[in-house]
Amino acid sequence: MSVELPEARILAEQLDQAITGKIIKEYDLKDVERMIKVGFLNKDLSEFKPIKDKKVLGVTSRGNTIRVHLDGEMNILIGPEYGGVLSYLEKGGKVPKYHLKLVFDDGSILTTRITSMGIVYAVADDRLTESYLYNRDFMGGISPDEPDFTWAWFKETIGAENRQLKPLLVGKDAHIIGVSNATFQDVLYRAKIHPKRRASDLSEDELHALYDAIKTVVTERLGKLGKAEFTDIYGVQGGYVAAMGPNMKDQKCPRCGTEIEKRAHGGGSVYLCPSCQRE
Ligand SMILES: [Zn+2]
Repeated sequence: MSVELPEARILAEQLDQAITGKIIKEYDLKDVERMIKVGFLNKDLSEFKPIKDKKVLGVTSRGNTIRVHLDGEMNILIGPEYGGVLSYLEKGGKVPKYHLKLVFDDGSILTTRITSMGIVYAVADDRLTESYLYNRDFMGGISPDEPDFTWAWFKETIGAENRQLKPLLVGKDAHIIGVSNATFQDVLYRAKIHPKRRASDLSEDELHALYDAIKTVVTERLGKLGKAEFTDIYGVQGGYVAAMGPNMKDQKCPRCGTEIEKRAHGGGSVYLCPSCQRE
């Protein structure tokens, strides 16, 4: 289950409460050969050594990426973008499968497991910008949960683009951060827009519906403590169910009764209603 902006923010806010001020007494890494090979972990594992005996100064997130800021100018970047589970054990207990385990000075434990594409990196402050995820999420872009995400900005920036919507909203060149393919399908269905439409061809009403849908999805997902498949650091499941996505496979559109279709689009697939969302 992917961890996008709302879930990353929920995890970061919980972690900030749970582990700020604690000192990392031990760490352990598992499945390292495979993780390094696919680029999910530092190539040089000795880069983790400086995190030992460091105090957690705070935990923040932006986009889909979580930054655990340590003293000594060190950081742990956690980006379980396409799937991952973080578990916090206050007083020990059965440790779940993990790629990174941190044991703190009070005996509490934090584990991170990447279940699809994602990263766990130990990075010094002066090397943060070498990280693709840090660059993409912390250094630029407009985030839909921040005050800069205004209708005026959206209309001017997105509305002016003579391109299909996906690269404008998702991926490394997107104007917005924190939106992945799951959110993309959800917001397009809500706004009744076909993914092949070009931004500059949308009417002002359609563009506004798209803007509203992005705000709604992010707000609702935060309010419902994440997607239904997501679990927070305490193992509590989220309650948000996407209006459109793989969960709607073989179902009928709740608005018009048309069969939902799956289409290849922009290097992935999207579910859509061919009646509500016209090319
Ligand atoms: Zn429909």
